[in-house]
Amino acid sequence: MADGCAHIAAINDIKTARRHECEECVKIAARWVHLRTCQTCGVTLCCDSSPNKHASKHAGATRHPVISSAEVGERWLYCYPDDAFAEY
Ligand SMILES: [Zn+2]
Ligand SMILES: [Zn+2]
Ligand SMILES: [Zn+2]
Repeated sequence: MADGCAHIAAINDIKTARRHECEECVKIAARWVHLRTCQTCGVTLCCDSSPNKHASKHAGATRHPVISSAEVGERWLYCYPDDAFAEY
């Protein structure tokens, strides 16, 4: 696990995407590139390569620090405040 990130260290059960879509992009009929799942509340949102960057906006607005990749075959976590990656 990542050095110096208590947020990732505290996660025991990884939340996975309920549906493979960005919940905010669906509302506004926008497109996304990759999907990320918030490890605090479980919402699935789009990555920073997507036009609307919903996952990082969510992290900034809610202070939910850690997301996981919701992409098939990817198993990693990312902490925004610590800029820390961890595979699992
Ligand atoms: Zn952290
Ligand atoms: Zn989105
Ligand atoms: Zn959240």
